[in-house]
Amino acid sequence: MSAERIDGKAYALGLRGRIATLAADFTARTGRKAGLAVVLVGEDAASQVYVRSKGKATVEAGMASFEHRLPADAGEAELLALIGALNADPAVDGILVQLPLPAHLDEQTVISTISPDKDVDGFHVTNAGRLAVGQPGFVPCTPLGCVMLLKDRLGSLSGMDAVVIGRSNIVGKPMAQLLLAESCTVTIAHSRTRDLADVVRRADIVVAAVGRPEMVKGDWIKPGATVIDVGINRVDAAEPGKTRLVGDVDFGEACAVAGAITPVPGGVGPMTIAVLLRNALVAAFRNAGMALPAEAI
Ligand code: NAD
Repeated sequence: MSAERIDGKAYALGLRGRIATLAADFTARTGRKAGLAVVLVGEDAASQVYVRSKGKATVEAGMASFEHRLPADAGEAELLALIGALNADPAVDGILVQLPLPAHLDEQTVISTISPDKDVDGFHVTNAGRLAVGQPGFVPCTPLGCVMLLKDRLGSLSGMDAVVIGRSNIVGKPMAQLLLAESCTVTIAHSRTRDLADVVRRADIVVAAVGRPEMVKGDWIKPGATVIDVGINRVDAAEPGKTRLVGDVDFGEACAVAGAITPVPGGVGPMTIAVLLRNALVAAFRNAGMALPAEAI
């Protein structure tokens, strides 16, 4: 048996197409483009790449991209003042502050300054609370993308046993909340979980968000289970001096047991930016007091 590959790249492409159509509709109806502001503090190489690709994707979707760069030694007051100005700017529907921030800046203070109604990353405590109690808000992009892929493959997730490995605020916890909202029976496993392999073996759905290369082995997986691999880990390739990306799941082993699995790269990764665009568009419709049918995107 070889597991079906869940093609996140193709799904994300389709989603971005639907977003572009709705963004054009938004512009036609309001006379302005939906706007996403991205704030980058410092020179971190990976963050610069992320910010550039987010800006490019925003423009490709027919939305306005506002990029703000501050030096690595920018003070908290300067950053908070910028966020305050973006909160007040009617052309800006969504605000994203690229993480990680330089060590002298407190991430929680910064995130809590973003208006919850422009917090398209879904990291504000108000949005975490809204997710927990089932109110409309913004959900972190990566876990929302994972649920989209799961529902696309499985239809209803109701009653399924789901194990989420990892309890971060960005992936693990919101992932568990989303699966609970889909009526799964959810277990959150983490670094202190006893007999992790046994816990994972119960799951119809396994979501691995750990950051440890190929940690989840084939014999941990229930035959036929659906495996979502969020991990992105760079390891040495066979060729000297080269590296390659692997997930948190041993893909080769898991393929022999699972019913379906996301590859790394090309699975969850492409969903994150697509969902960010989705959240920005949802913010724009809400800010303009216009309805956006939930099932549209
Ligand atoms: P994190 O470091 O904040 O959290 C990792 C979690 O894994 C922790 O909750 C910890 O308890 C758990 N953990 C650590 N060691 C463990 C072990 N031995 N057994 C069980 N659990 C263990 O990481 P994160 O931000 O949640 O990201 C997780 C992974 O997902 C990383 O590889 C990251 O690069 C990747 N990621 C990918 C995307 C994407 O777009 N595809 C987005 C965000 C994160």
